[in-house]
Amino acid sequence: MSQSKLNVVVLSGAGISAESGLGTFRDVGGLWDQYDISEVATPEAWQKNPELVLDFYNIRRKLVVEASPNEAHKSLAELEKYCQVSIITQNIDDLHERSGSTEVIHLHGEIKKAQCSQNENEVLELNGSDLKIGEMSSSGHQLRPHVVWFGEAVPRMYEAEKMVSEADVFIVVGTSLNVYPAANLIYSCKKNCRKYIVDVNDLTKVKFKNLSHLKGKATEKLPELVKTLIQESKKK
Ligand code: NAD
Repeated sequence: MSQSKLNVVVLSGAGISAESGLGTFRDVGGLWDQYDISEVATPEAWQKNPELVLDFYNIRRKLVVEASPNEAHKSLAELEKYCQVSIITQNIDDLHERSGSTEVIHLHGEIKKAQCSQNENEVLELNGSDLKIGEMSSSGHQLRPHVVWFGEAVPRMYEAEKMVSEADVFIVVGTSLNVYPAANLIYSCKKNCRKYIVDVNDLTKVKFKNLSHLKGKATEKLPELVKTLIQESKKK
């Protein structure tokens, strides 16, 4: 009797895109060393100085457009041939999609899109272009980056929690688990779910059962893990 595919759910963070040249937030030399969060990534910052906020995201957007998916992103796309794979990413880049992954939820939005500042459901593609003061939504309001700022609700959390609760294998890669509510997802796994964390740093705050910490670069450790999962799936 053929068994159903292994259900693999991945929670990714800035660390998976670090080797594609996109800076993380909290590592030394990361974005928050260079910018003050409250000045660029909050609703209050938008009220106070929208031009500065737009500039910050225009620079980030250019960097994303210039970056390419790395071996970590690509390995997850390859895994889709053998397993059911869902990716929940905190990243606003589109490197998972560009590497070929088809089921990706962006918890914190997508930098290549804009949204109406008065109606978050009015979303449009920007691709690589800058967003400027005076660019309006179809309902006549200023457009803002389609990202979730600190202090704003995370609309896709419920969907993400459901995905994690159904996982056979849960992989956390390149996230410091400092941003909530996303960090709470690690507690949504079912009892017998296998859990892996891929990160270059030691884990200081995650203490739960059946967890394997694969310490090292995402581009090395994640393809190794994927290879093991593919071999396992082939034996099924
Ligand atoms: P974070 O900066 O807080 O943590 C990054 C984690 O990745 C750290 O634990 C670090 O040890 C690890 N790491 C760094 N380089 C690595 C590598 N090469 N291989 C494996 N692990 C590595 O990032 P976070 O937890 O994602 O923070 C959340 C916020 O950062 C999110 O809201 C996200 O939107 C935002 N962010 C996104 C991007 C992006 O879209 N590429 C970039 C920077 C920040």
